Amino acid sequence: MSQSHIDRTWFREVNTAWDGYSVSLGIEEILYDEKSKYQDIMVFKSTSFGNVLVLDGTIQCTERDEFTYQEMISHLPLNSHPNPVKVLVIGGGDGGVVREVLKYSSVENVTLCEIDEKVIEVSKQFIPSMSSCLSDPRVTIHCGDGISYVTEHTEEFDVIITDASDPVGPAEGLYELTFYEKLKNALRPDGVICCQGETPWFDLPLIKNVIGYCRQCFPTVEYALGNTPTYTGGSIGYILCGTNPARDLKIPIRHFNDVELDAMNIKYYSPEIHQSAFVLPRFVKKVLTEEVNIVI
Ligand code: SAM
Repeated sequence: MSQSHIDRTWFREVNTAWDGYSVSLGIEEILYDEKSKYQDIMVFKSTSFGNVLVLDGTIQCTERDEFTYQEMISHLPLNSHPNPVKVLVIGGGDGGVVREVLKYSSVENVTLCEIDEKVIEVSKQFIPSMSSCLSDPRVTIHCGDGISYVTEHTEEFDVIITDASDPVGPAEGLYELTFYEKLKNALRPDGVICCQGETPWFDLPLIKNVIGYCRQCFPTVEYALGNTPTYTGGSIGYILCGTNPARDLKIPIRHFNDVELDAMNIKYYSPEIHQSAFVLPRFVKKVLTEEVNIVI
């Protein structure tokens, strides 16, 4: 559990999972700070990154750099599926992933399964740039556990995106083999999933385990990296899995040009970024593809 250290002017993200390292953001004003049924929820206005959502002391998103993450976790899978019509987002109560999913005209419905309705409520109040899309008529909101939800819904979705917090508290079960088996069963033929893939700077053992689980369930499993300054280590991974063994997930289906990307208000993702994101640093590739000890 994070014990974030808040003093007069700084928020410091302190967590035993990344002992001795801390992301800090200047605080202008604390806007919300309550405990929900599931976690501590805080929102503060930062001095340079806009409003910031924090859950159990861990930064979830900031208005300034959230687009880097929301775009990658959404467009990597959506642009690996030929015709996404029904999409499921697990977690993601801030609305950022749903906002990106709605940019595809083929999508007829996106279901958001968020366990903590307080996160949705607080995001609507303090981070409208992400949450305002939740009122779109194509959006269905289900407040409940993502694990139970995928257990009850089989062969229903073209794309499932798990935008989960770290594996503590309510998110713990979203990093276990049984969850990925259920995700596979919840997909329609040619389905694709993408899960938040932590950071190789502090989470390589966990990432290796999860990729191992995914390889037991899916014919194609890939790991991509992107940059988000306010996530631990400044980089965040994405675990992309497909059910069609003939589809190379590292190659985007749609080669959007700059005019199209501007029209979709996409500022980080591009077909070139899609392909390059799977080119991994040697220490990461070595651990994730070979039976080597984890050393960094
Ligand atoms: N982008 C952030 C990251 O990478 O850490 C995650 C943001 S989003 C706010 C994470 C959400 O997952 C939280 O709102 C949390 O309540 C939700 N969540 C955690 N466990 C869940 C579960 N078992 N089912 C559904 N939602 C869950």
